[in-house]
Amino acid sequence: MAQTVQAIRGMNDLLPENTSVWQKIEKVIRSTLTSYGYQEVRMPIVEKTNLFCRAIGEVTDVVEKEMYSFEDRSKEHLSLRPEGTAGCVRACIEHNMIYNQEQRLWYMGPMFRHERPQKGRYRQFHQTGVEVFGLTGPDIDAEIIALTYSLWKKFGIENDLELQINSLGSSEERAEYKKALVAFLEAHFDELDEDCKRRTHTNPLRVLDTKDENVAELLKSAPKLSDYFGEETKAHFDSLLSYLDKLGIKYTINHRLVRGLDYYNLTVFEWVTTALGAQGTVCGGGRYDTLVEQLGGAPTKAVGFALGMERLVLLLETLQKVKADSAADVYVLGSGEGCELRQLQVSSFLRDALEDVRVFNHCGGGKFKKQFQRADKSGAKVAVIIGESEIANNTVTIKNMCDKDSEQKEYTLEESVKIIKSIINK
Ligand code: ATP
Ligand code: MG
Repeated sequence: MAQTVQAIRGMNDLLPENTSVWQKIEKVIRSTLTSYGYQEVRMPIVEKTNLFCRAIGEVTDVVEKEMYSFEDRSKEHLSLRPEGTAGCVRACIEHNMIYNQEQRLWYMGPMFRHERPQKGRYRQFHQTGVEVFGLTGPDIDAEIIALTYSLWKKFGIENDLELQINSLGSSEERAEYKKALVAFLEAHFDELDEDCKRRTHTNPLRVLDTKDENVAELLKSAPKLSDYFGEETKAHFDSLLSYLDKLGIKYTINHRLVRGLDYYNLTVFEWVTTALGAQGTVCGGGRYDTLVEQLGGAPTKAVGFALGMERLVLLLETLQKVKADSAADVYVLGSGEGCELRQLQVSSFLRDALEDVRVFNHCGGGKFKKQFQRADKSGAKVAVIIGESEIANNTVTIKNMCDKDSEQKEYTLEESVKIIKSIINK
């Protein structure tokens, strides 16, 4: 036998038992986004590598070590998208969607990062992203946070996620702060781990979200970014917090929350759970007021977030808030001369008559016993049976699969629709 080929490590197949759960979750997300008046955009999965380097920043984990980059046959440098914001901004500039206009957009799809695969961390994963352009105030920051909160409420997990929030100030404020932080880090250089030593001179703010406990302890006495905030930054942050208070959305201010990508300013936030171990951040976002300009567009303020779909699915499964669907609601089976064609006809008739009902037609014949076992396995609540007498009488026999003791009875096709509805909706 020939050798089999396996999928790439960290790139998962979603099988039917997974996809039914994903579809339900995606449906809730889509309808919530639509109810907020946000519109979908679909960008390519591959973009020029340069786009991500310019948008995300050269000295970030994503660009330094996580991108899937390659040269195509015409020697163009391309990358699989590691996130959606860069492509979304590129598309908006290219199609002149944000010059003097407001946009509230969303997308859903696969992203790629060459990371060490583990629970909640994969090389192909999926995000739902939201990007809002052309709005400056903290009210829109509050709106997108409220939008995520309304999602958690719909899933019944609002008490399982903590909102952590911070302000990164303006780039001028950060530049001043960076000087003080670097001076502090240099004074304690020997106490830093290798990663933080490197970051001190490449991306000092990233030292703040270190996972090293000794460094974390040391940082308690480091200068605070908030001490460098001017009036505007303070006012933006205070109004946002006051909106959240009034909307009844609890939060924790986390001074060490800086987020991994370079483009953020002012508001940054993450929704974090303790139920998933180390990969606890389900959703993260913030303001990126300079990115559009940095990518060649007219200055346009922006704010957004990305929600990690695998982590949301894992969380909902861990908390038992979602169940996989069975394959069918109605199972059509039969035996005897001419039953195959009749089954095809009856199944079609029932699908037309019963909206949103899954009608599964048994193919390939076989003994009734075996067919009923299949019907059971399909999860169908109703079996529709066709034998020679049903064919002759233009009828079907219905069995309620939820009530094994109930009698099976013969009905005309029209009557059967009513009976099936009543069993399914019970
Ligand atoms: P982390 O700190 O966990 O690496 P990140 O800061 O790199 O996350 P973002 O770039 O902000 O993540 O992406 C937003 C969300 O996408 C994350 O909060 C997470 O839920 C999800 N995510 C990011 N990387 C992965 C991955 N490799 N596998 C699965 N989900 C991911
Ligand atoms: Mg990461």
